[in-house]
Amino acid sequence: MKILVVNAGSSSLKYRLFDMDRGTVLAKGNCERIGIDGIITHTVTGSKEPYKATPVFPNHRTAIEYVLRLLTDKKFGCLGSVKEIAAVGHRFAHGGERLRASAELKEEEIAYLESIVPINPLHGPPAISGLKACREVMPDIPHVGVFDTSYYSDLPDYAYIYPIPYELYEKYRVRRYGFHGTSHRFVAGKAQELLGNKDAKIITCHLGNGSSITATVNGKAIDTSMGFTPQDGVPMGTRSGGIDPTVVTYLMKREQLTADGAEKLLNEKSGLLGVSGVSSDCRDIREAAAKGNLRAQLAMKLLAHNIKKIIGSYVAELNGVDALVFTAGIGENDRELRQEVCKDLDALGIAIDEEVNATCPRGEICELTAKGARARTFVIPTDEEYMIARDTLSIIQNRK
Ligand code: AMP
Repeated sequence: MKILVVNAGSSSLKYRLFDMDRGTVLAKGNCERIGIDGIITHTVTGSKEPYKATPVFPNHRTAIEYVLRLLTDKKFGCLGSVKEIAAVGHRFAHGGERLRASAELKEEEIAYLESIVPINPLHGPPAISGLKACREVMPDIPHVGVFDTSYYSDLPDYAYIYPIPYELYEKYRVRRYGFHGTSHRFVAGKAQELLGNKDAKIITCHLGNGSSITATVNGKAIDTSMGFTPQDGVPMGTRSGGIDPTVVTYLMKREQLTADGAEKLLNEKSGLLGVSGVSSDCRDIREAAAKGNLRAQLAMKLLAHNIKKIIGSYVAELNGVDALVFTAGIGENDRELRQEVCKDLDALGIAIDEEVNATCPRGEICELTAKGARARTFVIPTDEEYMIARDTLSIIQNRK
């Protein structure tokens, strides 16, 4: 059975076609600059060269139509017919409070997704537009939504309610939602398998351009560092992560910032970029730090410090930890950061083997646990697209 996974952004549409019988990727690609002009990069597994072109993509619909033509193209494709695609899985950052699990998206669900755009203004509209385009072009097959927030549907109320007047939660649904859930669910599931323990207490660190940390027990998330928006938690490429909220109002007054200006400051100019003044990309910051740039060194120390603090608080919430997992761009690749985070955590049962950490091969599951450590530590490459394809398959197989 073949499943197409689509991740639509404001000017992009990423896709991956899976053969679920074999668990393999048949093709993948990315349409960029949608609504501006257009670029597509498309790769069929096993082909030597990626296909690249610059067609005009006025909207998501033209992009998905182009993708389907490419997938069935004799030279650049891998399908005899579009009819081979059994379903499409769509990545959604936000499912609100109602879409608590992956679900087939029909009119009612789409109306609900539209109704929660005010709490998901950046990701919601392009994802809905991508979904509608795909439904128009492939009307006869199921379209399934997989939501980053749904992994957090069972957070206890004391973990998701903010200590502000309760009426504001009732009126505006302001609460912790959590994000990156599909990635945390995937790597926590792998860790459970590696431990052979479904009840395991697991802390997963998704550290990429956006970063979040999640505590899982019995396969369910009980707390997570991102909140009402993906702004909370650890410092990120350009996002501040959690800070004293009064810093915001103080700066608004001192710098005469509007609400939009304050959001821009916290979303686009803060985090690793803001502190280092070098870049939002960890590789650039590491390079500058190695050359003696003190602010670049500070940015990386501050990042490790904040990750450590959250890990510590989750060990307390879980009353112990069986596994610590690192994933995503920084988590999978930045050995120094893993070393720094895990340094002096032996009181919590966490210790890693420095040599294994330094030589851990890229793109593979790697166990870093030091001899004698109570908890096991892993690097587990994330695969959100595969998770979306798996959920989509399971939903269409259980369809009434
Ligand atoms: P992601 O959002 O998961 O694609 O991760 C992007 C982040 O991963 C960027 O900040 C990159 O700097 C970081 N990253 C990717 N490769 C490396 C590497 N080899 N060393 C350090 N950071 C890396």
